[in-house]
Amino acid sequence: MPTKAVELAKVVVSRKGADRLKSGHVWVYRSDIVSADGTQPGSLVAVKDERGRFLGTALYSSASQIAIRLLSREIVPDFDSLLRERLQQAIAYRERVVENSDAYRLVFGEADFLPGLIVDRYNDIFSLQVLTQAMDADPVRQTLQEQLTALQPVSIVERVDAHIRELEQLPARSSGLLYGEKTGTIFSMNGVKFHFDALQGQKTGAFLDQRENYAAAAAYARGEALDVFCYQGGFALHLAARCSRVTGVDSSRPALEIAEKNAGLNGREMDWIEANAFDLLRDYAAAGQQYDVIVLDPPAFAKTKRDVPTAMRGYKELNLRALKMLRPGGILVTCSCSYHVSSRDLLDAIAEAGLDVHKNLRLLENRGQSNDHPILLRVPETAYLKCMIVHVSD
Ligand code: SAH
Repeated sequence: MPTKAVELAKVVVSRKGADRLKSGHVWVYRSDIVSADGTQPGSLVAVKDERGRFLGTALYSSASQIAIRLLSREIVPDFDSLLRERLQQAIAYRERVVENSDAYRLVFGEADFLPGLIVDRYNDIFSLQVLTQAMDADPVRQTLQEQLTALQPVSIVERVDAHIRELEQLPARSSGLLYGEKTGTIFSMNGVKFHFDALQGQKTGAFLDQRENYAAAAAYARGEALDVFCYQGGFALHLAARCSRVTGVDSSRPALEIAEKNAGLNGREMDWIEANAFDLLRDYAAAGQQYDVIVLDPPAFAKTKRDVPTAMRGYKELNLRALKMLRPGGILVTCSCSYHVSSRDLLDAIAEAGLDVHKNLRLLENRGQSNDHPILLRVPETAYLKCMIVHVSD
């Protein structure tokens, strides 16, 4: 039983904070910090309860609402060696589990025991995001760069979230190259090719978390498909191999321009429609349009807990319209990336929509994020993506 971490500053947490750590979570909020004397922004600290019992070693933020991100329940004498070790483990895990794709998440923060760090690989370009004071420190950046360049990427790009830097009280910084010169490449997922531009697009570029869901959806695909909220064509391009016709819908013109280029890259002819998905679904449903497969992958409707009731109405509405347009025997692939909406909630919304339009729904697959985005049990924030594959009949 470790009893002291002499050289580390000490952070004392309240009973509530201690219970949270004991329950398996790795965060302690600022409101549960009793004292943090002698700590520096981003420093490695020993966490103790009010009776002085050691709870673990953590990274401390002097600014964020998440003051403590636990690294280990043991004493960590040297963060640098731990960082190296965990990076190697994260990399080795992906090498083992990712199949037929050269784009995937290499490091998924807390779920890889590297809180505050995201690294994505897009073929020969790595894209990283630093989300905390601790991960922003120069020595950490140096080790990170050294370990990542050993994998021989052509370049490494940093994607900066200005809002997060502000919350962490870190100096402003812009997105850009950390290593190498190339910012664009072509990556492949499940044999489908995509353009990637490291300094544009949403997230760090593409929706890697859907990688396995693309392949799962494609396995059921046939006939005519509609991919709603298609972005750069992730689902649409996977469906195209099996469908006679695929149409993608998104409100973002730049996303659709890349989707069109992606279609060309894969030798496909597809239709892309720039529209508000809610309006388009209403009009198409009213006009009696029919499909064999419909994908719904909207942006997060519930950014906070308070948004959940409104979000649920949105999910029900979208699913209802899609269900109306599915031919008997059709497939609905319906997703939610709102952490605050559970799979139960999403299934309820789909079921209610099914009752309203008198369709029989059978859940074929209840899916989540792909295996390069592992879920840390007891840290529910690491699980956010839901993807349901539903068989629809009259
Ligand atoms: N299915 C995509 C990811 C979708 S992300 C993939 O696998 O790559 C959500 C998308 O919804 C974004 O591309 C965004 O531009 C689009 N979007 C947001 N609001 C919209 C709306 N009201 N109508 C249509 N598209 C919308």
